[in-house]
Amino acid sequence: MSEWRIPLSDLAFDEREERAAVQVIRSRWLSAGPEVAVFEGEFARFVGTRHAIAVSSATAALHLALLAAEIGPGDEVIQPAINFVAAANMTVALGARPVLADIGSLAEPTLDPATVASLITPRTRAVVAMHYGGHLCRMGDLLDLCRERRLALIEDAAHAPGARYRSARADGLDGRMAGSLGDVSCFSFFANKNLSTGEGGMLTTDRDDIADTVRNLRSHGMTTLSWDRRRGRTGGYDVTGHGFNYRFDEIRAAIGRVQLAKLESNNERRRELVSVYRQLLSSSPRLILPFLERSSESAHHIFTLVADGPESRDHVVRSLADAGVQTSQHYPCVADFSAFAESAAASVPLSRDYAARTITLPLHPGLKASEVEEICGLVLRAVDSSGDHEPRADSRRS
Ligand SMILES: *Cc1c(COP(=O)(O)O)cnc(C)c1O
Repeated sequence: MSEWRIPLSDLAFDEREERAAVQVIRSRWLSAGPEVAVFEGEFARFVGTRHAIAVSSATAALHLALLAAEIGPGDEVIQPAINFVAAANMTVALGARPVLADIGSLAEPTLDPATVASLITPRTRAVVAMHYGGHLCRMGDLLDLCRERRLALIEDAAHAPGARYRSARADGLDGRMAGSLGDVSCFSFFANKNLSTGEGGMLTTDRDDIADTVRNLRSHGMTTLSWDRRRGRTGGYDVTGHGFNYRFDEIRAAIGRVQLAKLESNNERRRELVSVYRQLLSSSPRLILPFLERSSESAHHIFTLVADGPESRDHVVRSLADAGVQTSQHYPCVADFSAFAESAAASVPLSRDYAARTITLPLHPGLKASEVEEICGLVLRAVDSSGDHEPRADSRRS
């Protein structure tokens, strides 16, 4: 239960998820088996890829995606400075170097293809594109660039299940789902994501070679699963790679199938709430509302705004907290974390400015439009009375 009157996110669960979990418990088979296989098939069909491979988290998926792209010591992986730390950590775990790219603008806090191009060196091997908030990156330009320079393109689609790319060009990309554009893509089913199973993730790809590598490394490099042996496939197994235990399990797969069936209607509800936020907040000249001008069909994982300064940001956050409304920051700039001191000198001024000024407001399918209206009223009052600018005469009293 939440301490907040209006929490940032909430599970969209009901008795259907409960029933799915109970059925698996009654089946007496918990580790990866038929539910995982069916969930993978349904997810692949939904995203439109040849393969979907369930794993224990998006971080595991990123690790395997980077391994499948043969990233190793000395390699460079270009990735956004505004991102959850998982991609950067997995890059370092492989002995490679995360090269942090600045965001395109405060209004479009995703990779800028021209900036990515300027960071390519002979050591660059891959680019990680993160679809911030569920809004797709400029994938047409990124794909052209990666093909031309022979780089792997990995989508971090943790925010974007159900998002659809829109392209005005005749590039065959119009209408493609997030997770079907790059060489390999990673989804998260963490508790606060659009499709949640508590912990969990999925890797999608059209490439058979990547799928083979990932299936092998997901389970110790072994050639069979316990489920195969249970089904009567006797005999031993070989170990053909140095893998991990990144497996998914039956209870979470069963919950994931229910969540997948609800995903599009839940994303639609998020879209409606975002349009209320946008309508009420776009009147303020002191706020930037990111992605207002972009036309991809977002999964609307989070709703963020950019205040006119760090003080203004803090004032809004405090005012909302006083009213029982939870907020967050997506994300601190990766270059500013202690563990990334080697990246501290990265030239990412827009990312640093964005991190200092962005606020994430509550968004989940169970949020009420009246709650969004209340939050917007609080935001507008706070931003109008904050210290980053001369207060207007009419806001001095508040
Ligand atoms: C949540 C998240 C991850 C990590 O997902 P896990 O499933 O928790 O490992 C990675 N990247 C982004 C952008 C995320 O939001």
